Amino acid sequence: MARIVVTGGAGFLGSHLCTWLHDRGDEVVAVDNLITGDVANLEHLIGRRGFTFLHHDVTKYVWVPGQVDSILHFASPASPKDYLEMPIQTLKVGALGTHNCLGLAKEKGAKFFLASTSEVYGDPKVHPQPETYWGHVNPVGPRGVYDEAKRFGEAITMAYHREHDLDVRIVRIFNTFGPRMRPKDGRVVSNFLVQALQGEPLTIYGDGTQTRSFTYVDDEVRGILALLDSDYVGPVNIGNDGEFTLLELAKLVLEVTGSSSEIAYEPLPVDDPTQRRPDLTLARRVLGFEPEVPLRKGLEQTAPWFAEKLHI
Ligand code: NAD
Ligand code: UDP
Repeated sequence: MARIVVTGGAGFLGSHLCTWLHDRGDEVVAVDNLITGDVANLEHLIGRRGFTFLHHDVTKYVWVPGQVDSILHFASPASPKDYLEMPIQTLKVGALGTHNCLGLAKEKGAKFFLASTSEVYGDPKVHPQPETYWGHVNPVGPRGVYDEAKRFGEAITMAYHREHDLDVRIVRIFNTFGPRMRPKDGRVVSNFLVQALQGEPLTIYGDGTQTRSFTYVDDEVRGILALLDSDYVGPVNIGNDGEFTLLELAKLVLEVTGSSSEIAYEPLPVDDPTQRRPDLTLARRVLGFEPEVPLRKGLEQTAPWFAEKLHI
């Protein structure tokens, strides 16, 4: 049993991680300032032995009393809607927040695990994206606040590894969805499911030919824990390598929900990547990772969450 700090623990992914870690017998300390998270995501853990919640902003000095074996740094706005509304907070949590959490890891002799993203590849010119690809990011565009924050996070994580011999892991997460996403989160799976369930038009940005690879949350968390428990230092893609156009996703959402919503086309956001698919060769080789939940099944498992949230 280990004592593990999860920053961003009240968020979508963080709360699933806290649950899996607690279920396997680890002691969990969730740290979150609730800017996009919700303690309701942790209500099944609050009050249970081996679980603590700290309401704290990790861009400020971070301290957790007692032994700490690992720090999973997941705090950051993650939806384009959120990070475009909070550009400075996004840069601060990726830079100052990552620095503070690395400092805590060094002080405690703990392993440091960074939640990075497929966005470090920007609008990729190499397809699918292997970890060796350095990416194609516009540093001064509106999305740059998130992409560069995560790229800085990776750089400082590797610097702590090289200079202080800190044990580190970096996961590059590809579009992950599932229960506990906020209905108004703004990401495409939540938008489409909510729109379909409410009989509103599904908003496709651009012509819908851009692609993404969507990962069901259970697959993502399983990959993250495999990486945490592995010896591999350096970025590892974790995702599902099925690739879908947004138009295909919209049709699948309509089928799964039985909705007769129409499709409405809206302008494509600036610097929106045209294609994205993880090369999973490394994850397969070093972790034996294989995504198991196909998109349709993941959508079927997620739709009831939104239906309940929306009282449908
Ligand atoms: P989320 O918005 O649900 O969770 C983020 C959490 O971080 C929230 O609870 C928020 O309140 C907290 N937070 C933000 N700034 C903070 C700060 N300064 N101090 C303390 N807490 C803070 O998003 P998510 O989808 O669960 O993403 C979690 C992590 O995974 C993020 O780092 C994100 O960049 C990364 N990621 C997610 C995806 C995805 O598809 N879900 C893809 C790539 C990377
Ligand atoms: N998108 C869309 N309609 C929406 C929300 C998003 O067509 O209502 C598109 C968006 O422009 C992008 C893709 O869906 O091409 C994925 O967007 P998301 O915000 O989920 O994540 P991203 O991969 O861009 O970080």
